[in-house]
Amino acid sequence: MRTPGTEPSLDARQSTSFAAASHVRCTSAAALLRPANPEFARPRGARPAVPLTFAKRLDAVAPSATLAMNARAAELRGRGVDVFPFGVGEPDFEPPAFVLDAAKAAIDRGASKYTAVSGIPQLKDAICKATERSRGWLPEPRQVTVSVGAKHALFNLAIALYEPGDEIVIPSPCWVSYPEQVHLVGATPVIVPTTEASGWKMSAAQLRAALTPKTKAVILCSPSNPTGAAYDEAGMGALLEVLAAHDCWIVVDEIYAELVYDGFRYVSAARIARERFPGIVDRVVIVDGVSKQYAMTGWRIGWSIAPPALAAALDIVQGQSTTNPTAVAQHAAVAALTGAQEHTERMRGIFQARRDVMVEGLREITGAACRKPEGAFYAFVDCRSLYGVTLHGKPVTDDAALSLWLLEEAHVATVSGGAFGAPGYLRFSYATNEERIRAGLVAMKETLARARRGTR
Ligand code: PMP
Repeated sequence: MRTPGTEPSLDARQSTSFAAASHVRCTSAAALLRPANPEFARPRGARPAVPLTFAKRLDAVAPSATLAMNARAAELRGRGVDVFPFGVGEPDFEPPAFVLDAAKAAIDRGASKYTAVSGIPQLKDAICKATERSRGWLPEPRQVTVSVGAKHALFNLAIALYEPGDEIVIPSPCWVSYPEQVHLVGATPVIVPTTEASGWKMSAAQLRAALTPKTKAVILCSPSNPTGAAYDEAGMGALLEVLAAHDCWIVVDEIYAELVYDGFRYVSAARIARERFPGIVDRVVIVDGVSKQYAMTGWRIGWSIAPPALAAALDIVQGQSTTNPTAVAQHAAVAALTGAQEHTERMRGIFQARRDVMVEGLREITGAACRKPEGAFYAFVDCRSLYGVTLHGKPVTDDAALSLWLLEEAHVATVSGGAFGAPGYLRFSYATNEERIRAGLVAMKETLARARRGTR
């Protein structure tokens, strides 16, 4: 990984990742897998038919930053501890009942066979109509590739587009999978750091400075995980204007676009491109899915909307890996997209109220500004004022240790900002009810007060 203005290393194994900034990500996936695992131990003296090594691409990939934290939270829960779930990345709601009914009906009708690789025609049609309804532009069904979640759609794109030597521009803080998927295919993430002061937005000038002849793609996420920041029409337009002069793919992750607050008007990059920059329309790829907007994370349905030639390439990639996403889940997604949309509206209202409670509480506890996010369901807060508390006899001096301290002492689960490329911050999910949010904030406040008084 490189930051703009520094000479890139094309050897992914030498590249630094967010690992450098975070205690929990200090090792590659390969290093974690390699130690004496009995599964891989062979009898003394036996010679393997093939060398028992892992592919070098694993050397460049960091395992999920939240693994250790999740394991510890699960352990605590297993012991009956009531852990406040501010670490989760999925809505706590159930999908609409009519979606579940549609899935049951699909099972009864015999939706048990393979479908077309890129999805059933009804779902592609529903995705196009929903895109027109909510984003104001109408794609063609042949542009749609339905995948096993948006993460899979992004991975298909990485396989189809990125190669060793390619640079992929990613503003940070960013969702952890963007740089790691780029690493997996041997390309180089170019991380563009943004700040809370700039609303966690990349400026046109920053983007321009990051582009080189090697730039193959730019990955944008709006609203963002982990910051909740969303580009308004002017902000996104300014970035697209820069990209109009630079030949590269523009991948826009819109998975949280339906969860925006205070009347924020989300305008899709695809629509702005059509209206203002027709020359880039065939370079814009939209990624979306049902996980967040219909609380359907476990159903694993996401999609990309790409120019037809790229969609055909994605069909080949997916056809040689997963084939189609689960047939029943596709039918459930058709129901979600074509049914009444009140459920999403209701979730949006509830999330907005929770956001206000969480942000106010975090401001009070940390003394930090804690920007009110436009969308998603995360508050991203500067927690450096809390450093100095003691964990296992040592003072806490970074966000990873603070996250662990909060879990151990206040039973509050969070994700450390370093995991997303923003050390010093913590991500608090508000995908849990208001009562739990208030109780978790009280637990934090009281634990901190006790720690500062030196009592336990
Ligand atoms: N993009 C972002 C920004 C996300 O936060 C997530 C899920 N955490 C995804 C994509 C993946 O969503 P899916 O469940 O559709 O794979």
